[in-house]
Amino acid sequence: MKDKFKVFDAHCHIYPEKIVDRAVPATDRFYDVTSACRGTVEDLLRENDEAGVDLSLVESVATTPKQVPSINRFIAAAVSAHPDRLCGLGTLHPDSEDLEADVRQIVSLGLKGVKLHPEIQGFKVDEARCMPIYELCTAYRLPLLMHTGDKRYDCSNPDRLLPLLKKFSGMTFIGAHFGGWSLWEEAYKTLAGLPNLYVDCSSSFYRMTPGSVKKVVSAYGTDRVLFGTDYPMWKPESELDYLFSVGFDDEDLKKMLWDNAASVFFPEQI
Ligand SMILES: [Zn+2]
Repeated sequence: MKDKFKVFDAHCHIYPEKIVDRAVPATDRFYDVTSACRGTVEDLLRENDEAGVDLSLVESVATTPKQVPSINRFIAAAVSAHPDRLCGLGTLHPDSEDLEADVRQIVSLGLKGVKLHPEIQGFKVDEARCMPIYELCTAYRLPLLMHTGDKRYDCSNPDRLLPLLKKFSGMTFIGAHFGGWSLWEEAYKTLAGLPNLYVDCSSSFYRMTPGSVKKVVSAYGTDRVLFGTDYPMWKPESELDYLFSVGFDDEDLKKMLWDNAASVFFPEQI
């Protein structure tokens, strides 16, 4: 089954060797899970070989503005060491002194967009200090992948996202975890149909049934869903196996596994 499809994993986290064994357990505690994989580039590439993943979009999140340039350099270095296996997103922080300089760095490093995580970075998506980020993503045509949804907090829930996505209609936005982690039903009921919205399926299968996955995917449309694993939290192989078990036809699988992500992150090749 897997050999039939090219696979683009549009949501992966990687960490430098010297911090990986602290960083991954910290995320695990936040989400009350135990990550299945290690979180280094070498481990990701090994997992991808096993699973039949051709290309991974890698990212890392800055918790302070000072970390932004070095994280972006780390991601770009990983991509340039494995240009046929990886592509990358940059990080930004709303409290940066010079957001436009950070965005220019992302562009000059060849990164394909921006990743934000409101709950971990400590902001609500509709705060005034975030607006320049959305303006810059629009102006520089950088797709924005954002962690979305958490019923324990009120940072990136669907009712905050809806007006934002309408206001920044020229920005391509990817709502991770089907647009609303832990709020899957509320998310698609609020957000499905927005023309600038894509979602990824990462870190969702473990809390859903195949039937509910089918329902959520059909609400957004198979043109709007990207395959993503949230590596290292989940094994790429088991996430792929789950997607194949849901019962989508080949045409829909091809879109979700490759075409949709390629059109978002490599529009020049379409
Ligand atoms: Zn993520």
